[in-house]
Formats: sequence, structure tokens, C-alpha cells
Amino acid sequence: MTDFNLYNTLTKKIELFKPNEDGKVKMYTCGPTVYHYAHIGNLRSYIMEDVLEKYLRYIGYNVKRVMNITDVGHLTSDADSGEDKMLKGAKREHKTVMEIAAFYRDAFFKDCDKLNIKTPDVIEPATNCIPEFIHMIEELLNKGYAYIAGGNVYFDTSKLKEYYVLSNQNEEELQVGARDDVEEDFNKKNKADFVLWFTKSKFDSQELKWESPWGMGYPGWHIECSCISIKHLGEYLDIHCGGVDNIFPHHTNEIAQSESYLGHKWCNYWFHVQHLNDKSGKMSKSKGEFLTVSLLENKGYNPLVYRMFCLQSHYRKPLLFSFDVLDNVKTSYEKLISRIAALGTDGEIMHDRTDEFRKQFNDAMGSDLNTSQALTVLYDVLKSDINDASKRYLIADFDKVLSLGLLNCNASVKKDIDAGLAETVEKLIAERNEARKDKDFAKADAIRANLLEKGIEIKDTREGTVWKVI
Ligand code: AMP
Ligand code: ZN
Repeated sequence: MTDFNLYNTLTKKIELFKPNEDGKVKMYTCGPTVYHYAHIGNLRSYIMEDVLEKYLRYIGYNVKRVMNITDVGHLTSDADSGEDKMLKGAKREHKTVMEIAAFYRDAFFKDCDKLNIKTPDVIEPATNCIPEFIHMIEELLNKGYAYIAGGNVYFDTSKLKEYYVLSNQNEEELQVGARDDVEEDFNKKNKADFVLWFTKSKFDSQELKWESPWGMGYPGWHIECSCISIKHLGEYLDIHCGGVDNIFPHHTNEIAQSESYLGHKWCNYWFHVQHLNDKSGKMSKSKGEFLTVSLLENKGYNPLVYRMFCLQSHYRKPLLFSFDVLDNVKTSYEKLISRIAALGTDGEIMHDRTDEFRKQFNDAMGSDLNTSQALTVLYDVLKSDINDASKRYLIADFDKVLSLGLLNCNASVKKDIDAGLAETVEKLIAERNEARKDKDFAKADAIRANLLEKGIEIKDTREGTVWKVI
């Protein structure tokens, strides 16, 4: 198996990836809270997790990937306070919680499709697993890791030798971080304790409630990911993914619950994607208007341009979104697609040369998923002197991971790109012809050079000037 070095949030180091079982990877992803459309920040996380999954498959692993759908229990504050996000969505749109969940779940997967994000092998809504949650909570109570107070069941973080295994947070920082408008929960024995099951909801209008040994109620957010992961992937997990905001408290609490329940270490590698930010900070839904895939489409961007935007930077670096940068990526993407579309199919595949490029691609991706370097290798392939058949072969190969639709870019998109390109080229050729008529050869040469820079070669023939993408 090709070496794959990956940063692990748990050890805070880049490590050689080694799954529990040879050749198999068990991977879990925190899914969306389906109370609204996903914003393109959320989708940055899902794009980079998709790249991770596809690269593992590319180097030969058999990956089983599970994702939950949060359709209950995620409160507007991650600190067990605030309103249930699903209920908030239902109130906003005068629909039932289940209607909201179905609508935004479909919308999420439609967005994923447009971004070439593969659907995970298992998708499990939280509301499907209430008996499993109850069972895990009962076990945590039996083992002394949980307690009942004021009608709710809490996880007792003081029972753990080490609670803050993933993050550098501590109790003092938690207090500093607490917002004034967040009510303190006096049922908790320790500041960091969190709710496993609510029966005393602050919201009488909570629609979805289930019978439990502690009364009618609903689960906390964190319990769902521990249960759903163990249900489908067993007691030993290889990789758990999410955005960096999930590190604390969500993933910290998942580790606390799962390892207390199982009695051993649960997950070896934690993969976190840094945030997409806008000028005012982290992109989030609470800010009112937010950027979605549909909005990008309405503004004339192919969603894959956004995928390329994400691939151009490293997943562990914060990424600042701006339309100016997206415009530049759009131009590069369109040019890339046109150059690839102009490739022929002639020739035998030159395996020694393609192996060299594949090695370079693996060196990039195997170094903690260096996608921008992988894109450079793709450009190097296009610039190289290998024949078109070999170029096509490599592009198809790399695109198994990059998923930029490089060879099968949707026909209508390609037509648009070609039309746009043709228009620009024809305009410049007309300007050059004018310049030649006026004997302004310096200008004519400058236009030829400009076209060449854009990857367009022109030739003056008896029938007029012809051009091709090189
Ligand atoms: P949610 O639907 O709020 O549960 O979030 C879905 C995923 O998006 C989680 O993995 C979050 O960590 C991630 N996420 C949220 N905001 C951002 C952001 N601005 N940039 C990147 N990922 C984010
Ligand atoms: Zn989760």
C-alpha cells in the first residue's frame, strides 16, 4: 500500500496512516443538521472529507463510510443551551420538524451531487436510532459515568482521567468562553458535563419526544454520533471527520461517551477541516444571509469551480472566501476543461512516464492531502511532452480523487465554456487583424503572445486565422 501521511488532531502530529484491519478503513463523518441549507463553509468540510475518502480508495483501501443526519437534538448553542435547531427551522417555515428534515436532507444531497461528493455507504438519521441511544445511556448510568438531575441525564466528566484529549480547552477557558446570555444549567455537577437525554425541555413545543426509562424526552446531540458509529462500524473506528468547530465540545464528548461505554480506545485518527471564512469571520447560518450552492449557480458559477477553489488550498488552513478569487478560479477551471477537451486520443499509453507522474501525485496527496500540489502535478502533465492518450489516462486517474469532472464535464457546461472562450479568442483575433491592417505589428504580436499565455495557438492561413487550445 502507498504510504499515506495524515495529520491526526488526537496526537497533533502527521502520522503514517495504518488502519486497525489490513486493507480496510472504517470512517465516520458528522453529517449535517438538516434545519436549513448547507452553506458553502459546511460544504468545504464535506468536499475535503470526500477527497480523503477517495484518496484512501485510490491507494487501494476498502472504505466503509458512515454519516449521520442530525434531525433532532442539536441545540443552537453547542454548550447544551439554546433552542433545538430543528425546532427553530420548523417554526421559521411553519412546517413540522420531519418535513423540515426531509426537505433539507434532500437539498444537502443534491448539493453534494453537484460538487461530486460521493454519498457515504451508510446514512443514518438520528431519529432512527432512539433505542440504541437509550441503551448506551443506560450503560453509562450503570457504569457510573452518568447521573440524573432535574429530569435530565448528564455525562459526568469528572469520572474521566482525561476529558480534554482533543482540544486544549480547560474548565477555566470554558467559563471565560461562556456567553452572558447563555443560562447556566444548575443541574450539572461539573461545568463541562453535558446532556445525554433531556426530559425537562425548556421548549414545551418540542415536537419529537420518545418514551425512555427517564420519561418522555429526546437525546442530546453528541450521543447520536457515538451510537451511530458503533452501530455500523463496530467498536474500533479508524477515522472520524468533521470541521474544526466539532473538536470541542462535540468530538470531545463523543470520545468521552464512546470510550466510557466501550471500556477501551475507540478511534485512532481524527481529521478536521479548517473553516471557510468570510470578511466578518467564520461562515455560519446564524448570520442571516449565507452562501449556498444554488446561490453560486444563480450567479453563473459551476459548483465544481467551488470544489476547485477548495482544492487549491490546504484543508488545515483557514480559507477566506471572496468572489474575486472565485472568479479567478472560474477562469482557470474553464481553461483547464477546454485544454483537456482539446486532447486527442492517439497513441499508446507511455507507462514509464505515467508512473512517474502518478508517483508525483501520490507524493502530494500522501503528504497530508496536499491537493494544491496535486493540481500542480495535473498541470505538469498537460504541459509535458507525453502523448495525448497518456495525458487522458492520467487525468482520468487523478480525477478519481479530485473529482473535478475533468473528462466528463457536463456537456452543457462544456458548451458554455467553449462559447465563452471562442468569443474571447475571436475578439482578440479580430483586434489583431485590425492591427495588422494598420501595420501595427507590435500590437499584433502582443495579441498573439497574450493568446498564447491563455493557452491558445493561432495560425494565419489563406482562409484566415485559425486557432486551437494547446
Ligand atoms: P452542521 O450542519 O452545523 O452540523 O455542520 C456540518 C459540518 O460543517 C460540520 O462538520 C461542521 O464542523 C462544518 N462547518 C461548519 N461551519 C463551517 C465553516 N465555516 N467552514 C468549514 N466547515 C464548517
Ligand atoms: Zn457528530
